[in-house]
Formats: sequence, C-alpha cells, structure tokens
Amino acid sequence: MGLFSKNKGSLFIRCTHCGYTTKVTKELFAKILGAATVGFGFKAWVGFLFAGTGFAMAICIAILAGGVAMMAYAKTIVEWLNKRYSCPQCSNKSWDTYEESELELLDQKEQEEDMKEFFGGEDTVVYFDEKIRVAFEAGIKHAQSEIAIAVPFINKSIISEKITLKETLQSLIVDALKRNVKVKILYGMKKNTSDDPALQQARQDMKSFFAELRHLSKNLKIKEGNVHSKVVIYDKKYMLTGSFNYLSFGGKYDKNTRKEATNAHYEQKRIKPFYEEYFNF
Ligand SMILES: [Zn+2]
Repeated sequence: MGLFSKNKGSLFIRCTHCGYTTKVTKELFAKILGAATVGFGFKAWVGFLFAGTGFAMAICIAILAGGVAMMAYAKTIVEWLNKRYSCPQCSNKSWDTYEESELELLDQKEQEEDMKEFFGGEDTVVYFDEKIRVAFEAGIKHAQSEIAIAVPFINKSIISEKITLKETLQSLIVDALKRNVKVKILYGMKKNTSDDPALQQARQDMKSFFAELRHLSKNLKIKEGNVHSKVVIYDKKYMLTGSFNYLSFGGKYDKNTRKEATNAHYEQKRIKPFYEEYFNF
C-alpha cells in the first residue's frame, strides 16, 4: 500500500496478463521510443514527444505535467501503449490504465483473492504434506496486516532461509515486515524435569535466536510460551491449524516422513477463539 502513496494523482498502466505495473512518465515514452533522456529541457521534451508519439500537442504537454492533466488523456495514451509497449515481464501488449487509488484497491482485492484461493472459503480445505508448506508461504506473501504464528519449535538448521529472518534478511517474513505487516511469533515448550539434553539445547538455541530477532523491527513481536499447537492466523482472517510445525520442518517428504495434515479456512467464529488464546500480546 505504501508503494503508491507518494504518487497521488499519477497514472499507472498494468499488464492485463501478468499484473506488471508501472507509472506513466515521460521517461517511459523515451524508453519506448528508444531515446536517451539526458539533458532535455521542457521544450525539447514537448518536441520529442510530439515527434515521437504523434500525439496532439496538448497531450504531450499533459504527459510532461503529469497527474490530473495526464489522466484526462488516459484512454488515448493507453491505446498508443497497447500498440507499442511490450510488457517487460511477459511480453504481451495489453495494458489498462489506473489511478493510484484504484490500483491500491485492486492490489488489496488481488491479495484477498489469492488468500481465498488457499483458504477455501467458508468450507475448510485440508492440506497434506508438501501442500501445507505451500499454503503457509502463500499466506506470508499475501498477508496485508498481520502474520501470527504459534509453534512449539523453531529449528534453525531445518527451516529454509526462504522463511526465517536470519543472515541475509532475504526471507518471506522480512519481506512482510518491510510491507509494514506485523509479525507475532509465540513459541516454546515449558521446561520439564524429564527433558533430555537435546531438547534442552534446542530450547536454549531458540531463546538466543529469538533474542537476536527481537530487535529487527518494531512490528515483530516474539513471546516465549508453552504451546504444542501449531497455528497460523493471517490478517486475523485466515487460519491454518494442524500437525505441521511451520518453523521447524522444511517440508521435504520421503517415504519415511510422518504424515502431516493442516486445516485451512477463514471462518471467523473459529478463528477468534484461537487468536484470543494465542496472540493477545
Ligand atoms: Zn505482463
């Protein structure tokens, strides 16, 4: 959402095939026309656009002025682009124009649709094995406000770099934090006198790992607790619950791997009690 907030009144085009989106600027026209942009003054730009695009003078000036002025010619501009500009991502030539506010809405809608695809609507979807991890990652990618995860364990060595927040900081969770999405992690199992040394070590590792992470972002909240449940709630609206340990199992299966199953849904009345029990921190 923050991405577009600096572009109030700007015109955007979006590829109807792949969703690639870019702002319509004079530089975009220069790129399409294959010209260097350096050293152009206003008049030179007008002349350049006039000669290069074949647009009426008023449109060339509107492109340079940007904002509302350009919006008035959105239809003509997109017709021109549909003939000449191939999508850098998928090579199709099929564009729609959008204002910044429309685009923001569209973005939210698309995220929502993506979520619903994985969470099955009012009816619960059951995921087994590999599919669980796919749904878990999809949720992290599309969450718009909050990711809440409760797990007994995190295993640094097993979970892929893709999800956790370590070293490179190039992970799905870090991406989410950058999008201003809150991340809550409840983890841990209470000490027991019968715990073997391996379990005690794992507990110690988790403690130090989370202690490092805690400072990453004000939007990252980590709490040590006593849970055996595995629960993920996205945007307080979509939930995964089941046997899969999201932060300690990488999701690679062979014939010896224990069977895993997870329910996915967005039924509000079932999500609320879970959220209140686990994530009120
Ligand atoms: Zn495209």
